[in-house]
Amino acid sequence: MKQNEIGWNFNNSYARLPEILFSRLNPVPVAASKLILLNNQLAENLNLDFKNLNDKEIAELFSGNILPDGAEPIAQAYAGHQYGHFTMLGDGRAILLGEHNRFDIQLKGSGPTPYSRQGDGRAALGPMLREYIISEAMFALGIPTTRSLAVVVTGENILRDTVLPGAILTRVAASHIRIGTFEYIAMLGDIELLKTMVHYCINRHYPHLQEAENPALELLKAVIEKQIILITDWMRVGFVHGVMNTDNMTISGETIDYGPCAFMDVYDPKTVFSSIDRRGRYAFGNQPQIAEWNLARFAETLIPLLHENQEKAVQIAQDVLEKFSAQYQKHYFLMMRNKLGLLGEEQSDKILINDLLTWMQENKADYTNTFYSLMTGSFSDNEPWCRRWQSRDISFDLMRANNPAVIPRNHKVEEALQAASVDGNLMRFNRMLEVLSKPYESTHIDLAHYQAPSEIEASYRTFCGT
Ligand code: AMP
Ligand code: MG
Repeated sequence: MKQNEIGWNFNNSYARLPEILFSRLNPVPVAASKLILLNNQLAENLNLDFKNLNDKEIAELFSGNILPDGAEPIAQAYAGHQYGHFTMLGDGRAILLGEHNRFDIQLKGSGPTPYSRQGDGRAALGPMLREYIISEAMFALGIPTTRSLAVVVTGENILRDTVLPGAILTRVAASHIRIGTFEYIAMLGDIELLKTMVHYCINRHYPHLQEAENPALELLKAVIEKQIILITDWMRVGFVHGVMNTDNMTISGETIDYGPCAFMDVYDPKTVFSSIDRRGRYAFGNQPQIAEWNLARFAETLIPLLHENQEKAVQIAQDVLEKFSAQYQKHYFLMMRNKLGLLGEEQSDKILINDLLTWMQENKADYTNTFYSLMTGSFSDNEPWCRRWQSRDISFDLMRANNPAVIPRNHKVEEALQAASVDGNLMRFNRMLEVLSKPYESTHIDLAHYQAPSEIEASYRTFCGT
């Protein structure tokens, strides 16, 4: 295989960190790899060129059967709070091949690791295609996210509720460092290691903080800011992450882990899709508070570095965390004002926004389509909030930049996944990818993609740990 023509440029800085942070091991070879999807546009952005390889050779690379030149495969160790409970975790079914041009290239579904616990280390085709399409949709929506470079099938069956085709997704990320990574270090109680990780994260993600007097404090503030921006973006498009455990929250501020996530149709802050989230901990409207809770766990891990006096360190952490709510509200209302195209800020903006949200909830209005119809002048109800909105100075350009015409509607995603993963027909899937690649342009969209679902289609459930 002509690997030198691909353009791999691995610099594996994570594998240079203390060995307690990971385990070195290769992906477990698969029986018969076959390429299902390759993200050519992303490959190009990464300066990777696969055109001198045939599909079989590409499949061998993205199945882990052949390692890219320069890769140093590791499984990363981390811990995390899952549904509020602390536990030891780690890459149980993923292998980080290394950093190509500073981007993590990770195989997900690549076989058991020392962190697999009872799991088989494998992934099924349906969920990997789902991660591919939703992460790429998020990218096109302009929301920070890990991305998907390829999907291969393994030629092996895996056992879930039924027997399913095994698959591997190649995930690309700014890094895979999570709040859970810091929780793991805190659990070890190794302050030197904590310092090392703070510096590593600053160098990699926040280089402007390199000279900071109190690096841990500045990192904390920077991560809070990044997460507020991220969650505000989720709220903008109706994204429900579904499993906001601390191990699924990145230090880089990218959305990670497309397990049970889904987009909300009818506006309701209590919207939950995940079948195991029975109490609605990770409901749409709870996401900001959960982010705050997770960031408090992050702050706790940094206490030993915030001040030599522990009491003072706790006070510093609390002072920063106390600002979260006001900081989030500021971002949130600005985002909502942009969705409504409001020019000029008025005292009554918050009331207008809340009245609109209340109206949507009471009338079971579709979140995406309500804003879309306001933007296109096709909103017909003569509601008091609407009349107030119409009396304002409105920028339709601002609205068009903030209101998607199309989101990955759950019932459409399911149709495409069914055809692709059960019948092996990728036509719908590829068509949907194309539609979702320009979510703010409505001209090319066939109606079916942005119509709200019927009532039956709306009773949608997603499943975790797939
Ligand atoms: P998640 O809920 O996807 O964030 O995963 C939580 C943890 O479970 C992570 O440490 C995963 O690596 C691990 N995990 C999920 N699925 C599997 C699997 N099939 N085999 C081994 N580990 C898994
Ligand atoms: Mg995870």
